Amino acid sequence: MIPDGLLLWHKDGIAYVMNEKTNAWIQVRELSRTFTNGEVETRALRGITFEMVPGEFLAVTGPSGGGKSTLLHILGLRDRGTGGSVRLLDRELATLGNRERTLLRRKLGCIDQNAGLVGELSVYENVELPLVFLGMKRKERRKRVEELLDRLKLSHRLHHRPAQLSGGQQQRIAFARAIASRPELLLADEPTGNLDSANRVLLMDLLSDFNRQGGSIVMVTHSAKDASYAHRILHLNDGSLLSENQAQHLHP
Ligand code: ADP
Repeated sequence: MIPDGLLLWHKDGIAYVMNEKTNAWIQVRELSRTFTNGEVETRALRGITFEMVPGEFLAVTGPSGGGKSTLLHILGLRDRGTGGSVRLLDRELATLGNRERTLLRRKLGCIDQNAGLVGELSVYENVELPLVFLGMKRKERRKRVEELLDRLKLSHRLHHRPAQLSGGQQQRIAFARAIASRPELLLADEPTGNLDSANRVLLMDLLSDFNRQGGSIVMVTHSAKDASYAHRILHLNDGSLLSENQAQHLHP
């Protein structure tokens, strides 16, 4: 028997229960974003409202130009809305100064469809980079990076340059870099967009593992299969939220 006010969902045979009242952790209210270029106004987001609880895996789908990346950029503190409000990890974004935005950004990890690795650095150094920015000690960094790359079965590639690796391997390294700082929230923009189906499944399994271990994810995707890994799917079209569904389980 589930008490009132608790939210329940099932994933992989596990029941997840969250207190809806106290744990609304991302709260987006009437969020809009209008771009103005000279005379031309583009309403990329037209007042969207949704919530997300910690530990949730949310997919955002919809046609190109629908506002998905704009939403992700705002949640990733790379852009600001022009109307409405966003509470992220329990902080109201509009009230934050630059320093507080920087501190909050450290709790986020980002991955998009281009791995975006630094070509001059080795695999090891790429994954280590965010930990250097966090001021972590060298010994601690080494332990963290080696463990992570070992888990991703990339230990034998530590000293390679990104260009010496396949697209699938590069994207797994980008994932390692995104979660190296153990972010509370992972923002993924078409993370499998450039991958073949075998590498797509590998990467989605890694995202699912991160989520099972407690990390929250907002993932933009065009793929119904990828969206099926999520707990919930938001459909955005022309800047508006069309519907919210529980994910169907399409993946093996
Ligand atoms: P999606 O990710 O769903 O493809 P986007 O969020 O990238 O959609 O874009 C939504 C709309 O906003 C599009 O019409 C796009 O052209 C416009 N847009 C996005 N970024 C900018 C920008 N920096 N300047 C002007 N228009 C933009």
